[in-house]
Amino acid sequence: MNGPARLLVVGSINADLVVRVPAHPRPGETVLGGDLAVHPGGKGANQAVAAARLGADVALAGRVGDDDHGRMLLATLRREGVRTEAMRTFPGSSGVALITVDDAGENTITVAPGANARFAPTDVTDLAPAIEAAAVVSLQLEIPLDTVRAVIERCEAAHTRVVLNPSPAVSRDVLTSGTLLRACDPLVLNEHEATTIAGDGDAREALKLLRALDPSPRSIVLTLGSAGALIAEADAEPVHIAAPPVTAVDTTGAGDAFTGALAWRLAAGDALPAATRYAVRAGAAAVRRAGAQSSYPTPDELP
Ligand code: ATP
Repeated sequence: MNGPARLLVVGSINADLVVRVPAHPRPGETVLGGDLAVHPGGKGANQAVAAARLGADVALAGRVGDDDHGRMLLATLRREGVRTEAMRTFPGSSGVALITVDDAGENTITVAPGANARFAPTDVTDLAPAIEAAAVVSLQLEIPLDTVRAVIERCEAAHTRVVLNPSPAVSRDVLTSGTLLRACDPLVLNEHEATTIAGDGDAREALKLLRALDPSPRSIVLTLGSAGALIAEADAEPVHIAAPPVTAVDTTGAGDAFTGALAWRLAAGDALPAATRYAVRAGAAAVRRAGAQSSYPTPDELP
């Protein structure tokens, strides 16, 4: 595709190394697991791939190492149709997530951020033309927080719409410090992230609290798993969007499928309710198959 991408995702990219184990090892214990599976992952890459599968003109700005994982991750992005002109390769390791899954389906995840941690606020100068030209910039919190802030400030200056998924979950203090929140349109979060910010209470109470913050996000989308999503815009009553009923096989990466789809539809010109209705279908489709990126739908697979 020529010209700058309509949707720019700025975020993480990891190799997910997955081993199935009969039971998780306790500290000091060694267990023998099954074969190692290596999958492309990281929230930024997942969201970009989810958008690309749905036909988006999308670029990922991220960092990989000059190792086999980095080469595999870049090749995957290209194969999926994600633009890579804003990707950079650094000497050293790519991000890796070490995942063990036990017989009960419970997982433990340890992330070595590798090159993701080297995405510096000063790198954002390089990204300025892409940010200015994009309709939407989508971010998560798996790269340094100061870099996320620098990107959001650049978006504000350029009047580029910001979608922020505050994941991994952070406290209210972190979220409200500096300029993170006020440009978000929307802030997209799940029930766990919402209650982490609120401290306690349920997700709907957390939504009220987020709307009352000063400054507050311009809009909020709260995802509710099989119950769909809630949209809160300006002072209007929250609007509920139901998810289509599907048989859930594996919910891994459903949130990233949702956010990638939402950011893409906003970049394509949809209003927030229409974009959310589309995203709810993309999230539902993603739970019907195993894995994260491997579960993401093409438009003809949407329920
Ligand atoms: P994950 O951490 O598993 O990636 P999440 O907790 O960030 O997901 P959820 O709120 O669980 O996010 O799900 C995101 C979206 O995916 C929901 O808004 C919904 O559209 C869809 N979804 C998730 N689970 C189901 C389900 N069981 N049935 C239908 N849709 C679902």
